[in-house]
Amino acid sequence: MSISGKVALVTGSTSGIGLGIAQSLARQGVHLMLNGFGDAQAAQAAVRAVAPAGVRVDYHGADMSKPNEIEDLVRSTLATFGTLDILVNNAGIQHVAPIEEFPVDRWDAIIAINLTSAFHTTRLALPGMKARQWGRVLNIASAHGLVASANKSAYVAAKHGLVGMTKSVALETATTGVTVNAICPGWVLTPLVQKQVDARAAAEGLSVDDAKKALLGEKQPSLQFTTPEQLGELAVFLCSEAAANIRGAAINVDGGWVAQ
Ligand code: NAD
Repeated sequence: MSISGKVALVTGSTSGIGLGIAQSLARQGVHLMLNGFGDAQAAQAAVRAVAPAGVRVDYHGADMSKPNEIEDLVRSTLATFGTLDILVNNAGIQHVAPIEEFPVDRWDAIIAINLTSAFHTTRLALPGMKARQWGRVLNIASAHGLVASANKSAYVAAKHGLVGMTKSVALETATTGVTVNAICPGWVLTPLVQKQVDARAAAEGLSVDDAKKALLGEKQPSLQFTTPEQLGELAVFLCSEAAANIRGAAINVDGGWVAQ
């Protein structure tokens, strides 16, 4: 069975991994509801550019830290497309600081956007998926959903929480046509990581290129960044019938990061 004609909501899809996943799904003929901050027009154009004729692309600017806006996002997706078959919980932010210096508002924002938003979208999308007896929930966690790094307490807590929630909801849906899985990328060179590269270059007096090498060398044995395209193609696979019995998995795409 092809996924052409299905409807996907990808949170945080104006940039980086979310945009890559939206493009991969669109290439398969999936209709898309995009979300995120920044240049929404450019994101819609980038998705439309790779989609076959007939694929519909819409956008909703919900702030994923706000439950009422998330409710409106899911309601609008259903109103616009009539269904919601594939939910990709991808929106996320990062802040790096030791815990005793961690700004309280950054902790709250990371937990809200990286973890709690997936609770809201999932609880709102699942009833329809179960009724239609088909659905896919893909939670974009992280290698930091499986192992930790210093100075990332909020992010590691949120991503471990997201992996835990993935397992729980996968069990709740185990006998249905809805599967729930997590994707755990290592380093992907998106704006979220570029900020960390730039901070490292500044702190250690390195060139940006050397800062990238240092980042990879520390954690990612392949010494290669994972790409949004690779994650997009994994998302397509997880939506296929071949993946119908992959449930509650946390699939690391991390150049060997968590194998160490
Ligand atoms: P990115 O900064 O390129 O994209 C983040 C997206 O989330 C953007 O579209 C942004 O507008 C959106 N967003 C941020 N706050 C939002 C809010 N309050 N409401 C709605 N949208 C919001 O980052 P990315 O690297 O593509 O990250 C995407 C996901 O992948 C995140 O959950 C991140 O934790 C995860 N991840 C990234 C990496 C990496 O190396 N880049 C590794 C593992 C996991």
